[in-house]
Order: sequence, then structure tokens, then C-alpha cells
Amino acid sequence: MPVLTRLIPSPVVVDIRRGALDDLAGLLADQRISASGKLAVAISDGSGRALRERLTPALPGAHWYPVTDGTLDSAVKLADDIKGNRYDAVVGLGGGKIVDVAKYAAARVGLPMVAVATNLAHDGLCSPVATLDNDNGRGSYGVPTPIAVVIDLDIVRQAPARFVRSGIGDAVSNISCVADWELAHEVNGEEIDGLAAAMARQAGEAVLRHPGGIGDDAFLKVLAEGLVLTGISMSVAGDSRPASGACHEINHAFDLLYPKRAASHGEQVGLGACFAMHLRGAREESLHMAATLRRHGLPVVPEEIGFTADEFVQAVDYAPQTRPGRFTILEHLNLSTDQIRDAYADYAKAIHS
Ligand SMILES: [Zn+2]
Repeated sequence: MPVLTRLIPSPVVVDIRRGALDDLAGLLADQRISASGKLAVAISDGSGRALRERLTPALPGAHWYPVTDGTLDSAVKLADDIKGNRYDAVVGLGGGKIVDVAKYAAARVGLPMVAVATNLAHDGLCSPVATLDNDNGRGSYGVPTPIAVVIDLDIVRQAPARFVRSGIGDAVSNISCVADWELAHEVNGEEIDGLAAAMARQAGEAVLRHPGGIGDDAFLKVLAEGLVLTGISMSVAGDSRPASGACHEINHAFDLLYPKRAASHGEQVGLGACFAMHLRGAREESLHMAATLRRHGLPVVPEEIGFTADEFVQAVDYAPQTRPGRFTILEHLNLSTDQIRDAYADYAKAIHS
């Protein structure tokens, strides 16, 4: 008997709208995620204070755990602190760091995790990965997908615009990531998961083609949904492949080579994706992507985030080493430094003309 369908690890609840936070207690009770209301809520020590004050009356059974940073140590400490207290769930209420710390801690103590994202900076809010700083820099840890994802658009709007911009770059970069995956399939016979590829690409295309801007609810909703679907696409694929290609290798290279000057994840992957599309000969797609990123205030050439063309060339040159084993357009072309320089000059000319 063949398997006729498959089950996908995915959240029981996805609630993306204005005012979603006001209904958080009811949602957790209704969905039987927390009937007793006993919750461990991880929240940022600084920026989370106002939210904590606002939510305390609605969540009387919650215990609040201030988290100071996004390190593995903080995540292990949180797990130790919440262990043995018979919570129904762990809530990560904040930006990417808080969500990732809560994901890891929840996995460690075997509790479901609720992601309440206060910004849209990247696609990690619903992914099966926790990215945490450790002694060796930064590590990615496999964790279960959150049981619920809540995004209050009113809260997202209060975050600095650069966070939303970063999410746009990360979502749009999916298009290049999936193209890299398809290339690896064609050239190396790497297995490609059509469903994961479809989810990630459609999320990227929807954000790419949406006529709205970061001030519109309709646009923010499409972006938030796109980031959630991207996270689930990684669960479907079993790794970050659908949302991490050459653009992400370039991003890692920026982080490693210029740790003090690195720009946001979305700014770097967006720029990386435009260049990667150019490298693969998809010139029109590259220009379309660049025009969209520009419209949203994102960089499309390195100078716009404070790097010289030569520093960008160095980053592209170094990029394949950041992710050994991942095959993208960079590994495929295997360009020399001079060839990268020429390709970049060609790209910059196309962008500026
Ligand atoms: Zn990303």
C-alpha cells in the first residue's frame, strides 16, 4: 500500500492581524494549548517590558522570564529555569533572538512553543531552526516547529522600519535560493522537494510582486504570511535548503569577514540574491528584484550599506566556504576573484543603467 499523503509539521494556529496580541490568552485556551493558563513567557529584558506590563493582566498564570541575549547559554539557562514547573507551553514574545531562545528551551524541556513575533526581520519565526550565538560564533540548532504563531500587525508597525525591510529581503531572496536548489538538482541530482520549493518560491514571488509598501496592512500581511510559509517550507524539506542559497552564503561571508560592520540579514541576502540572479544569467529577474528592493528602501549595491565594490567581491569569493556541501550558482561557476570582479562590474552597470 503506497503512502498517499504526508503529514507536515506545522503550527496548529497561525494568527496574523492587527490586535492579535489582545486575544492571545483566549487563543491559547481555545486551542487547548494552555487550558490552565500556566505559561512560561520568554521576553526581552529591555524592549519587552512595556509589552509585559500590557499583557500581565490578561495572562495571570504566566511566569515571565527576561532574556538578555540570543546565546546558547541563555537558552540553556531558560530551559533550566522553567524545568519542573508544569507549564503548558513556552511563549517566545519578541524579535528573532527571543523566539529562537524560547524555541531551543522549549525543545530541551519537551514543551510546545508559541512564537509571538514582534517584528518581521527574517523567516526564522516559524522555522524548525534556532539560531544561537555560541563559543564558536553562531550555530543553527534543529528544534520542533512552533505550535502556534501570532503576529500582531500593530506591534510590527511599532518596530523600526528596517526590521520590515529586512524581512522583505529575506522573503524575496527565496526566489534565488530555490533557483540554486533546482540547479543542484540538474547538475548533481540533488533531491528536490517540490512542495517545499513551491512554498518558498511563492512566498518570495508574492512579496516581490505586491504593489503595496511597508506602511500598508495588506502588504505586511502578505510579508508575514510569506515568512511563516518559508519557515514551514524548511520543515517540509528537513533543512534550510528552500530559503538558503548563494545569497545566504554571501550574507554569512559579510558577517564573518566584517563582523562589526555587517548590515541586517535581509539587506545582505537581498543584495546577494540580486547578484546571484545576475550570475545565473537571469538578468531581467535580477533587475526586477533590484527595482523592488529599491522601492522598499533596501540596498542593491554594496555602497548602500557602507561596503566598497572590492569588499563585496571578497565576500562573494569567500562565500562558498561558509556553507560546505551546499551547491549554488557560486559553487557551480567557481569563479576566480578576477572573474567575480568582472561579473560585479557587469552587474553594477546593469543596475545603474
Ligand atoms: Zn534568511
